[in-house]
Amino acid sequence: MLEKWLKESSYTIVFTGAGMSTESGLPDFRSAKSGLWRTKNPQQLASTYAMQHNRDEFIAFYQYRIRTLLKCKPHVGHMILADWQKRGLIHQIITQNVDGFHQQAGSTNVIELHGTLRTVHCSRCRRTYDAKRYVDEQFTCTCGGFLRPSVVLFGESLPYDAFEQAWTAAERADLWIVLGSSLQVSPANELPVIAKRSGGKLVIVNMEPTPLDDWADLLIHGRKIGEVLQEIDELL
Ligand SMILES: [Zn+2]
Repeated sequence: MLEKWLKESSYTIVFTGAGMSTESGLPDFRSAKSGLWRTKNPQQLASTYAMQHNRDEFIAFYQYRIRTLLKCKPHVGHMILADWQKRGLIHQIITQNVDGFHQQAGSTNVIELHGTLRTVHCSRCRRTYDAKRYVDEQFTCTCGGFLRPSVVLFGESLPYDAFEQAWTAAERADLWIVLGSSLQVSPANELPVIAKRSGGKLVIVNMEPTPLDDWADLLIHGRKIGEVLQEIDELL
């Protein structure tokens, strides 16, 4: 059914969340179950408060996350999406992920709602550097400012431009496909509703049930995203 909708739709959006990245071996740092970083609550470390008042631990946490990211790669699902984008089957990718896997797989024009872990930037002059700086223990800009990860921290709002673009895209969508998002936080749980209200179809592929399941035209639970996309790709 999804392959038919993909062919028919004139504006398809793919919206990805943490579940997309865990299939690349990247742990979901927000998940309470993962116990990723010592015994600390990641939501406290990935915050503006920690950056200002607990900087050593903030830096150590991001060094760890950047190192982990550099060991992981996009998986077959990212590759298929990049291919579909080139073939005109999907028109926009919007992601909650900060790993840059979509771009690494060849996707372009990706809207990153939560920023990126691939770069760090100066909190004073905003000059941007490769995130490898953190691995190399370099945390200061040439101007003397602190280099911070280019991700949205707890305590910060989403980048306005990215959010605005995502909103406009949602209003245009004929087909909105959620891949690996639990749809529990805003705007993840608002954008698909906008797409639906604007007349689009909603497809949700997520390991667990989500609060928006009742809105969906097609639901796929308990399956790996990479496998689902491969099956659909073979039918196209
Ligand atoms: Zn600077």
